[in-house]
Amino acid sequence: MSQNHCAVQGCRISIFNKPFGVSLFPCPTSNEMRNKWLHALRNRCALLDWSRSRVCSKHFEHKCFDSQKRLKDNSVPTLFPVYKRVLRHHNITPDKNKVDKLMSKLTQSELIADIKNSMKKVKEPVNFENFVTEDLKCRPDASIETQLWLLIKKQDNLNNRLLEHVVQNKKHIEVLQKNMDETKSTKKDVDQNVETYKYIIKCLQEKLATLEEQIEILTAVESR
Ligand SMILES: [Zn+2]
Repeated sequence: MSQNHCAVQGCRISIFNKPFGVSLFPCPTSNEMRNKWLHALRNRCALLDWSRSRVCSKHFEHKCFDSQKRLKDNSVPTLFPVYKRVLRHHNITPDKNKVDKLMSKLTQSELIADIKNSMKKVKEPVNFENFVTEDLKCRPDASIETQLWLLIKKQDNLNNRLLEHVVQNKKHIEVLQKNMDETKSTKKDVDQNVETYKYIIKCLQEKLATLEEQIEILTAVESR
């Protein structure tokens, strides 16, 4: 850690970006205070160099400052607000990203095949079922392998159920598709029928007209 940055992991305060009113303080010089700081900062700093490291004022309570905003001699950093989350994020994300990225390159079937292949190599722990309680938990004395095996079994069960749902959904979609096609062809048939009926009506009307004409002629002839 440099003299320019706060030594607390996850804290981004430095002499370059510190907001107004925030200061960077050097470490104490007495052994007594250094011990207190060491205790307070263990797991909080990647490196603590007594002569170079600085800690910013955000890690000290209000009571640690005098009226001039100077740090009192007996002050110990105690405030480490949100950095825990930031730290965890920093530690885990790179690896998680790598594995996630690699996995996302596999197709679903490749992934399933890979899992099945790996599962063949894994053996069920001895007396597995004896270590599982009625509410599907592991007994306290179950080995890690047994606990993991139970988790794998649960995941597998869930996968199978999801797969079933997928298959059912596919079937539903097929039925819907078929119904839609039928409806479409029915509509086509109806349309065609309507055209046919229209034609028939037209023909009948023409015939009727001819008949009326003939009747008229006949009536005219009769009345003579
Ligand atoms: Zn800081």
